[in-house]
Amino acid sequence: MTFNDELKASVKKVLVSEKEIKKSIKALAKKMTKDLEGEDLVVVGLLTGCIPFLPDLLKELKLKLLVNYVQASSYEGTASTGKVKVIGELKESIEGKHVILVDDIIDTGLTLKELSKYLYDKGAKKVTTCVLASKVGTRKVAFEADYVCFEVPNEYVFGYGLDYNGYYRNLPYIAALKDELYK
Ligand code: 5GP
Repeated sequence: MTFNDELKASVKKVLVSEKEIKKSIKALAKKMTKDLEGEDLVVVGLLTGCIPFLPDLLKELKLKLLVNYVQASSYEGTASTGKVKVIGELKESIEGKHVILVDDIIDTGLTLKELSKYLYDKGAKKVTTCVLASKVGTRKVAFEADYVCFEVPNEYVFGYGLDYNGYYRNLPYIAALKDELYK
């Protein structure tokens, strides 16, 4: 099967186009630039899902900032394990700094909640969260992201950093996975 055949067999519907993503990132970055000007900023990206969202967002932020990454895992396959594990360490101190935590999507809320706590424990003065997508009606903990590009329905979505079994992060758009592949 070619890449396109396999993709066709997986995509239920394109939810957000490449054009819409670009436009929304620009608008979000403009708002963040206005809100966060003058802060001592460190952007912390959550690997691997924050790519390509984070690099695209960074190019639009007109702010002085440092960039760091951490890796966390809460998903195995297409179902959340309910446990958040931080893998690896921050390369620089975030003591007293304003951290912008960037992830691909907020679903149950567990990852961002736990990672925010992790960053506060490391001495962050403030943790602001930012996601490409926010799933509607799926929170298991009371936590919302401060900056959101898109709301998506309660379906398994992939593309633009979001994977399907590790693949398809390189799609330039966000799609919903066919129901029969995960339900
Ligand atoms: P949460 O902890 O909020 O439940 O989930 C956050 C993490 O779960 C995200 O960083 C992402 O890796 C993964 N995740 C949640 N929903 C989806 C989804 O629909 N598609 C993909 N590819 N990953 C998801």
